[in-house]
Amino acid sequence: MIGAGVAGLVAAMDLARQGFDVTVFERAATPGGKMRELQVAGRAMDAGPTVFTLRGVFEALFADAGETLSDHIKLIPANVLARHAWNSHEHLDLFADLKQSTDAIGTFAGSREAQGFVRFAAQARRVYSTLDASFMRASRPSTLELVRRLGVGRLADLWNIRPFVNLWRTTGQYFRDARLRQLFARYATYCGSSPFHSPATLMLVAHVEQAGVWYVEGGMHRLAVQLAAAAMRQGARFRYATEATRIQVKNGRVNAVQVAGGDLVEFDAVVCNSDTNALAAGLFGHDVVGGADATPPASRSLSAVTWNLVARTSGFELAHHSVFFSADYEAEFDDIFRRHRVPAAPTIYVCAQDRRDPDRADHGPTASSPADAAPMERLLCLVNAPPTGDSHLFPRTEIDACETRVFESLAKFGLMVHGRAGATVTTTPADFNRLFPATGGALYGPASHGWRASFKRPGSRSKIRGLYLAGGSAHPGPGVPMAATSGRLAAACIQADYASIAR
Ligand SMILES: Cc1cc2nc3c(=O)[nH]c(=O)nc-3n(C[C@H](O)[C@H](O)[C@H](O)COP(=O)(O)OP(=O)(O)OC[C@H]3O[C@@H](n4cnc5c(N)ncnc54)[C@H](O)[C@@H]3O)c2cc1C
Repeated sequence: MIGAGVAGLVAAMDLARQGFDVTVFERAATPGGKMRELQVAGRAMDAGPTVFTLRGVFEALFADAGETLSDHIKLIPANVLARHAWNSHEHLDLFADLKQSTDAIGTFAGSREAQGFVRFAAQARRVYSTLDASFMRASRPSTLELVRRLGVGRLADLWNIRPFVNLWRTTGQYFRDARLRQLFARYATYCGSSPFHSPATLMLVAHVEQAGVWYVEGGMHRLAVQLAAAAMRQGARFRYATEATRIQVKNGRVNAVQVAGGDLVEFDAVVCNSDTNALAAGLFGHDVVGGADATPPASRSLSAVTWNLVARTSGFELAHHSVFFSADYEAEFDDIFRRHRVPAAPTIYVCAQDRRDPDRADHGPTASSPADAAPMERLLCLVNAPPTGDSHLFPRTEIDACETRVFESLAKFGLMVHGRAGATVTTTPADFNRLFPATGGALYGPASHGWRASFKRPGSRSKIRGLYLAGGSAHPGPGVPMAATSGRLAAACIQADYASIAR
């Protein structure tokens, strides 16, 4: 196994359980990949994913290993899915409860929009149920396979999920209110894509979130730590701070992995959990350069600039997840994907990691405290950025100017961030490119632009015998549960291809 991102960890857990002798090489010092943790002012905090969905994926994984997820990870259901703001007084919360969201939308934008939301949510659920087993849980993303698994009788369902229309246009059929259109089109960014170029099928992400968001006690990185521990209980070995530098092919099939420092370790099969573009870029040597198609820079997904900080806040009641929308969404994505620059006026996501639902006893800080008496809290602020971290340095001056714009913009929404403790940790697309090589800082593999994009993602079996692919850049795509699913698919393919060599 190369890489202890969520897909690598899940594949290691499944394969070790099935009796395979598993070694995981991870270049970082800890598991999790993008699900990483940073220290700011002596406090550990998440620097990667923060929205945890589809808990059933992990429950099934642990159950198959004879364990119970809740024995290892405490998940607390979120009532408020996210708070959305367009200025200092136009705010809208979405809730886990559909009726509560419908009522909130009705109050915010009127009953026609509330009805639009009910129709949108129903359609998002239909898209999800059409594609879940037929596409997302198939190891090969092909149209033929999709039709085969769906069955000819459900071809109309496939047509109805509107793969040929973009998400932005589609939201216009449900919402007249430009703010709601922006809110529901934003789900394309969960797959690192522009709503103006993504197929309407990405509305399934809205359903995934509506189906439940959980707070992970101790932070998302804890999930990675627990997955690694579970894989070890099944017998997998981990070698951290160990970079794989070459995958060797002999007699037409993979037979060994070389790590930095020289060790050549023999294997019958290798799961590659790095971005699949690392193969095409030659980072694993010539033998496997054809293992997966290259991702041209123009096809990359979004990168980000993130700030991890500990500070006091006042003036705006943050939820755990808060989104501060830009005034011109089209210009924002035009900046990123056409002009290749950090948007002049970006939408800003803030994860206030110490906050829970307001009606919980442990809800965390509130903005009603006087500014100086507000408790210090952990914040992850994120803006989308172009995936050009391999060709542009994102120098300090540019990122400092971007930070000033972002926090000035938050102040216009009413959110004052002050009294920072310790040094803020900034991560740019160039930093993401260093952490996740051959990506340019793209965080979600290839962008899901156009209806064909999802079918072009590499499947679990690479083009080289014995080499398997798992992770957000492979099928079924990015996001923690999807990457986990790809890990399970890769493990299932190895189980099918190599059952005879399991212990
Ligand atoms: C800032 C941010 C916010 C996000 N928000 C969310 C969210 O809220 N919800 C959500 O579901 N998803 C979110 N995502 C996406 C999600 O984190 C990813 O899709 C998922 O974690 C990817 O997992 P992966 O299996 O592809 O592995 P990765 O996380 O990409 O890890 C790959 C691993 O391989 C290792 N590796 C690479 N090359 C080598 C080598 N040569 N030798 C050894 N090891 C190597 C890397 O060090 C890394 O640990 C977010 C991502 C980021 C960065």
